[in-house]
Amino acid sequence: MNFNFDNIGLNFDNSYSNLPNILMSETNPIPVKLPKLQVFNKKLGEDLNLNFDKLNCSNIAQLFSGNLLPSGSKSIAQAYAGHQFGFFTMLGDGRATLLGEHITKKNKRFDIQLKGSGRTPYSRNGDGRATLTSVLREYLISEAMHGLGVPTTRSLSVISTGEYIRREKDYMGGILTRIASSHIRVGTFQYLSMKGDIDTLKKLVDYCLKRHFSEKNIDINPSITLLKLVLRTQINLIIEWMRIGFIHGVMNTDNMTISGETIDYGPCSFMDYYNPKTVFSSIDTQGRYNFKNQEIICHWNISRFAETLIPLLANTEEKAIELGKKIINEFTSIFNQKWKSMIKNKLGFIGDSPGDDVFIKNLFNWMEENKADYTNTFRFLMNNQKELGNVYEKKSFTNLLNQWEKRININNSSKLNYLNLMQSNNPLIIPRNHLVERALYNASEENNYDSFKALNEQLQNPYNLDYKNFQIPQSTLYTKNYKTFCGT
Ligand code: AMP
Ligand code: MG
Repeated sequence: MNFNFDNIGLNFDNSYSNLPNILMSETNPIPVKLPKLQVFNKKLGEDLNLNFDKLNCSNIAQLFSGNLLPSGSKSIAQAYAGHQFGFFTMLGDGRATLLGEHITKKNKRFDIQLKGSGRTPYSRNGDGRATLTSVLREYLISEAMHGLGVPTTRSLSVISTGEYIRREKDYMGGILTRIASSHIRVGTFQYLSMKGDIDTLKKLVDYCLKRHFSEKNIDINPSITLLKLVLRTQINLIIEWMRIGFIHGVMNTDNMTISGETIDYGPCSFMDYYNPKTVFSSIDTQGRYNFKNQEIICHWNISRFAETLIPLLANTEEKAIELGKKIINEFTSIFNQKWKSMIKNKLGFIGDSPGDDVFIKNLFNWMEENKADYTNTFRFLMNNQKELGNVYEKKSFTNLLNQWEKRININNSSKLNYLNLMQSNNPLIIPRNHLVERALYNASEENNYDSFKALNEQLQNPYNLDYKNFQIPQSTLYTKNYKTFCGT
């Protein structure tokens, strides 16, 4: 039944539904017993030109649980495949439904998707549901990523379903309203490639270019353009993760968007003390998706993307492979150049100096050897704040600090300039694992959302304000035992 939510300002134009049927299944969210609005992102609603003032919480809960569908929505589950931890599987939205694409007044197009909305034709053995905790986690971290300036899907609301779902024990169910530039993934291309549907593949290439890269010049062969653009967009994204110490945790090809937004916050986490091998995810026993490996995995995933395009890249398979390889082979040099430029921004280094590479290497080695906090080390360079820890009193660090000061003096730029550069690249606060866990525990176990809301609010402005409590890294004991779960 379609209900009248007309005065909210939802403006649907469901372009994905016009693509060939092989890409989706029409399906409705499965109603839940007692939907309750737990978190609502009013600011994001406003940014989307949506006005919920005339709705009460219970109406909003009906809408974003999927119990009532707004008119104009054409709800579908999307088909996709993916390499999960290196193994190829046919997947699809097994627990999400796309309500439709909303167009804002600035003519921007956003998917509105409900995650945790019940079984779909792609659910396989799953129940189609998500735990409230996992949904709250995605809300908190995705909004933090947005605050940190990293491309990401957004979160509009969290609903508790009033229904318990079975995992290792019973958990309250939750539904997230996810807002995304689109939900097209590398895995969407892999799905078509596996099905051998080259016509649709071609249509999808054109669709992605139009939807995500409309301002770019298109080569005579659009698939070449798309490959080059996705490669660059993904590199930019991973560099942003490296800038803030983010570890995605499940960089499967189905969790890599064509738009370049971070998607699917499962067992993700933020690194505290610097260790390139850091991995918190309980399911990543081999460290495949550890902090440093994210570059290699991104390269690997883009190579899988290129493979799907082989039928389109050139007239013969041989030529297509050669061309694909040529594009993919640029990955490392582009990545290295962007990585260095990102680190130099964090250090406030303007221009080039012959000693930069050695200094950067020494600083990273020092952080690793001394288990220094990744976020706070860069902040210490800026303000020498004693509270950040006594590791910065060590002689080995003072030496580095002196070298850094010397380098800053040859910047040929004002102190204000380099401090501004550092300020906008080095967050003061990140979603520290212990704070995230406390907020999630209080909210989902004790129904107390105070710490969740406080943390969420602080994380909207992570570069400028002085929130000392949020800067303190967790104890080593906590870090050692910390494991993130998909908690699905
Ligand atoms: P994720 O780990 O959330 O990226 O999910 C990987 C794949 O498994 C996607 O195709 C999901 O739709 C599917 N999936 C995860 N959990 C469930 C569930 N509880 N029920 C049905 N499908 C699920
Ligand atoms: Mg996923």
